[in-house]
Amino acid sequence: MAVFHDEVEIEDFQYDEDSETYFYPCPCGDNFCITKEDLENGEDVATCPSCSLIIKVIYDKAFIVHPQCRRCQIATAGWLFHHTGAVLIELP
Ligand SMILES: [Zn+2]
Repeated sequence: MAVFHDEVEIEDFQYDEDSETYFYPCPCGDNFCITKEDLENGEDVATCPSCSLIIKVIYDKAFIVHPQCRRCQIATAGWLFHHTGAVLIELP
């Protein structure tokens, strides 16, 4: 069974729009990374390419939008509108 170095909320990750990847600093000096696609597929393990550490990503499925993207608008009605498609996600 995998032993997680830490558990980190997705909000604490840095998001890179070009590579659609979330990054979080690893103690080795590199970054843990997990792609948006991984998250959409239900993955919750971010890996570091430079060492063997892994972390568990804490996230809500409905949160998988570009959190730092100005074009993603969070409507007060509780719906998330995603600009890359007609994706509508109902918040719990
Ligand atoms: Zn590392």
